[in-house]
Amino acid sequence: MTEVERLKAQLKRLSLHTMAAIFEEEAKKAAKSQTSYTAFLGRLLDEEVAAKMDRSINARIAKARFPAIKTLEGFDFSFQPGLSAVRVKELAELGFLDRAENVVFCGPPGVGKSHLAIALGLKACAARKRVLFVQTAALLDQLVAATVDRSLGTRLDVLARLDLLICDELGYMPMDAERANLFFQLVSRRYEKGSIILTTNKPFDQWGEVFGDDVIASAILDRLLHHSHIFAINGSSYRIKDKLLQLDREQK
Ligand code: ADP
Ligand code: MG
Repeated sequence: MTEVERLKAQLKRLSLHTMAAIFEEEAKKAAKSQTSYTAFLGRLLDEEVAAKMDRSINARIAKARFPAIKTLEGFDFSFQPGLSAVRVKELAELGFLDRAENVVFCGPPGVGKSHLAIALGLKACAARKRVLFVQTAALLDQLVAATVDRSLGTRLDVLARLDLLICDELGYMPMDAERANLFFQLVSRRYEKGSIILTTNKPFDQWGEVFGDDVIASAILDRLLHHSHIFAINGSSYRIKDKLLQLDREQK
């Protein structure tokens, strides 16, 4: 075994895979350019740290289970003039996560609610936060199943420990009493402990119908909205914007 091979094996044993991959080349460069020993070591360590950070961020994004990758940079604020870009960008600084505040995006289909929720979730992953994106109805089905096999407590513990839970599409389907109660438990567990981003097509005054019960709806709203940032997006659907443009042209 050559000395280079031996060093490579030692670095790998310490899980310093990037250093193992680049040190030979870097050592040659350093010798040529007469780089100091400290600078050489510094360069190797910087590369290893950068790669490790990258891997951990990618792992967090994978764990968050976003249905698609949508960024704030890719959001066209000029298409939703009623929405404050300043307020959304302020959220992207993530202070709301440290303060365990919630965010609600409310509006009709296609206005970018899920897009914004994902974009904020991605920022949180980049800041190495634990994030999970769920469709609200699917999550509640899972919680019902967890009640049956007696794993509800564990499941709620896991959900309570996340830095950010994104509940997408609340309100598309009315809920039965059991699901309404499970959603209440979830919101209560995270109240003042961890943030929820919620997207919904239903204005708050219709939540009684969503949960099938005014009392539980107001108990949920009370906790959810106590520390929260609410965005009502009422512009037109981005999904059909080209269609609208076409119609517009045809009419002229
Ligand atoms: P909603 O959740 O409100 O129904 P989505 O966030 O799923 O809407 O948006 C529908 C589609 O349109 C997505 O592909 C999304 O990326 C895109 N979209 C919506 N609004 C914008 C916007 N202002 N700029 C860029 N893309 C947008
Ligand atoms: Mg959506």
